[in-house]
Amino acid sequence: MKAIVKQRSEVGMVLIDKDVPSISDDDILIKVKKTAICGTDLHIWNWDKWASATIKPPMTVGHEFMGEVFEIGVNVKNFKVGDRVSAEAHITGSDSRNSKAGKAHLDPDTINIGVDRDGAFAEYVSVPAKNVVHLPDEISDEIGSILDPFGNAIHASLSFDLVGEDVLVTGAGPIGIMSAAIAKFVGARKVLLTDINDGRLELAQKVCQVEVLNPAKEDIKNKMREMGLKEGFDVGLEMSGSEQAIDQMIDSMIMGGNVALLGLPADVIKLDLSKVIFKALNLKAIYGREIFETWYKGMALLKSGLDIEKVITHKFHYTDFEQAFELLNSGKAGKVVLSWD
Ligand code: NAD
Ligand code: ZN
Repeated sequence: MKAIVKQRSEVGMVLIDKDVPSISDDDILIKVKKTAICGTDLHIWNWDKWASATIKPPMTVGHEFMGEVFEIGVNVKNFKVGDRVSAEAHITGSDSRNSKAGKAHLDPDTINIGVDRDGAFAEYVSVPAKNVVHLPDEISDEIGSILDPFGNAIHASLSFDLVGEDVLVTGAGPIGIMSAAIAKFVGARKVLLTDINDGRLELAQKVCQVEVLNPAKEDIKNKMREMGLKEGFDVGLEMSGSEQAIDQMIDSMIMGGNVALLGLPADVIKLDLSKVIFKALNLKAIYGREIFETWYKGMALLKSGLDIEKVITHKFHYTDFEQAFELLNSGKAGKVVLSWD
């Protein structure tokens, strides 16, 4: 089969022929149809500090995907050949206190598809059946391939009650845009989405009807007054990992407000903890998805009409993967989907 592989400890990836993976009794072999490129894949492509410390080449990359069940291990129930599926990329362990207590997303032995083991940028991928999720007919193949980052947005956004609340989302990358769309869809009163990249704010406005602001050009306090906010935002969703954005978020919150932190800073950052304490803020760190509550809620919202289609800005055939990575590296795209048909 064809696979996009990190072959050596250097920048880039290569398309090679590999054996189709074998499956164990509890696995499903999936014929991949669509994959999406994640920021994580870009780190692996660019071979930065994190990637070179984490990835052990040679390895097939990719973890955002959908496809069809091709082969089933003897112990697997509830799936049949041809079923449309996606999969949770975090393979959790079963021995920790959290796993045993039904909180698998907090398991410390979790390993990631396309990071710690062969991934989905290939014609076939083998996944434990417990990670595989059926796709309902209402969810297109393309959307099926971005349920992983959509799940990050669902996990963060639905961590707090948003109904009738004023919400600040910092960072209009795909996850920030989807978070703003979710907040609006579930009944937030006002939603403000910020980014220092105007192109990203333009994309956001195609996906959802929220207020946008470039903090490098406009004052957020003025904007808050214009929006009718008196004391600050009730809920903050931090989706940039930027020190400035986190600081601005803290300054713009109401006393006792709730903040979900999902964006990953590239380095150690400064945080004014006194401001957090004197505002009595409630900070919640978000890692991955809540398995499988996030999948259930996310697919339910999509089936109910939440439309995130336009966050996918480009589609390529997998053989054009170099062009796709180049485009993403330029910061001029939303989600980029590769087709394996
Ligand atoms: P992305 O890099 O595409 O988007 C981040 C956006 O933040 C960019 O558009 C950037 O211009 C913007 N930004 C930078 N400085 C800013 C500032 N001062 N104010 C406002 N916006 C600013 O990333 P993404 O794929 O949308 O993911 C969002 C973040 O979440 C990333 O940091 C990513 O690493 C992280 N992430 C975390 C998890 C998790 O489990 N916690 C999972 C996936 C991704
Ligand atoms: Zn991802």
